[in-house]
Amino acid sequence: MLQTVTVPHKHISDYQSIVGRTLVEEIRERAAALAGKRIVHVSATAFGGGVAEILYTLVPLMVDVGLDCEWQVIYGREEFFNATKVMHNALQGNPQDLTEEEWETWRRYNEINAEQLGGDWDLCIVHDPQPAAIASIVPEKSRNWVWRCHIDLSTPNEATLARLLPYLEHYSTSVYHMPAYVPNGLDGRAHIVAPAIDPLAPKNMAFSPEDAVYICDQFGIDVDRPLLCQISRFDPWKDPLGVIDAYRMVKQEMPDVQLALVGSMATDDPEGWDFFNATVAHADGDPDIHILNNLNNVGAIEVNAFQSHCDIVLQKSTREGFGLTVTEAIWKARPFIGGDVGGIPLQITNGVSGFLVGSVEECAQRCLEILSDPGLGKRLGLAGKDTARRKFLTPRLLRDWLALFETIGM
Ligand code: UDP
Repeated sequence: MLQTVTVPHKHISDYQSIVGRTLVEEIRERAAALAGKRIVHVSATAFGGGVAEILYTLVPLMVDVGLDCEWQVIYGREEFFNATKVMHNALQGNPQDLTEEEWETWRRYNEINAEQLGGDWDLCIVHDPQPAAIASIVPEKSRNWVWRCHIDLSTPNEATLARLLPYLEHYSTSVYHMPAYVPNGLDGRAHIVAPAIDPLAPKNMAFSPEDAVYICDQFGIDVDRPLLCQISRFDPWKDPLGVIDAYRMVKQEMPDVQLALVGSMATDDPEGWDFFNATVAHADGDPDIHILNNLNNVGAIEVNAFQSHCDIVLQKSTREGFGLTVTEAIWKARPFIGGDVGGIPLQITNGVSGFLVGSVEECAQRCLEILSDPGLGKRLGLAGKDTARRKFLTPRLLRDWLALFETIGM
C-alpha cells in the first residue's frame, strides 16, 4: 500500500477568530452535506515544497469537518525523481524534454503506485505531474478524479505538455492557481483555486518582536540595523544574484543595510548546491550578506523570525508559480517587494500592498523608498496583511474545495 502521511489534529473552530464566523459557518454547512465521503490526496512527497506545506493543514481540517480524508505519498526511486524533475522543469518552460527512457520510467512507477493505491474512494485528488498517470491506469478505484496542478503551465515545453495531456484527460476536473496556467484543451474542465497558508502553523503564528530579534541575533544579524531578506530555494528563477545586486545599490546610499538569503537545500540536489555556491561567490565575502540554509538549522520557526523581523521581504523571482513566501511575508505585515511575475501580482497590488518590480534598479529604488519612509512600509504591510486574511488563509482554501466537491456532484 502507499504510505499514509500522519497529520496533526487541527480544528476549524481555532481559525474563527482569524477568518471570521461567517466563513467558518459556511464551511460547516457545506461540509455537512458531504459527511463521511472518502477522499484521498495523492502527492509525491510528505516533506519540502508547497504541496506538503498545504496538505499538512488542509487534510486535518477536512477530517475535522467530517470528511473521511487521507493523504498518501507515492513510492519512487532516484531514477523516477530524476525523470519527474526534468518533467517539472519542462512544464515550466525548460526546452529539455524527457528522453523515451525517462517517460518509460515515469509510466512504470505510476503503474506500481496505481496498483498499490487502495480502492473505493469517492474522490481521489492527485497533486502535480509526478503521479498524474494513476487515473488512467486504475480509473475504477475512485468514483471521481481531480488533478491539482501546483506549477506554472503558462509557457510550457509544448512537446512535454502534449505527451502529458492524454493522461490528464482521465480527470473530470483539474485545478490551477490562475487562469493563465490552464492548458489549452483542458479549459472546459478547469477550476481556479489559489493556494493558502496556515496562520496557526509555527511558520506563520504571531511572534513577539523580542522573540524574532532573539532568533535573528543568533544568526549574526545586527538587529539594530536595517535588514532585507529573501526566503527561497537556491534556484536561478528565484534570482538571488539579482537580490544581491539590488542590495549593493541600496548599500551605496544606506551603508548600514544588511541582507539575509535563506534557502533550504536538499542534500541530493547537486544543481541546488552549484547554484548555492554561485550565490556565495557572488556575495564575495561581504560580511553584511548572510547566506543561510537548513543545514544551519533554519527551520520553520527561524523562517518565521526572519520574515517577522526584517524591514523588507523580497521575492525577486523571474518565474513564480504562486509564491507561498509572498503570502507568508504579507501575513506578517511586512513591507514586500517582488518580481511582477506568475502568482506574485495575484497577491500584491502594486503600491498598495507592496511593490512589484521588473529590474534590479527598480527593486533597489523601492527598497530605498521604504527604508527612508517607515510610514510607507507600515501602510504597505497592513494592506498586505488584510489581503492575506481575506484571500490566502487555509479556511478559504477549504471552502473552495468543498464548493468544488459539490460542483462535481459528490
Ligand atoms: N522555505 C523554507 N525554508 C527555506 C526556504 C523556503 O521553509 O529555507 C519554505 C517557504 O517558507 C515556503 C516554501 O518553502 O513555505 C516555498 O514555497 P514557494 O511557493 O514560495 O516556492 P517553491 O519553493 O514552491 O517554488
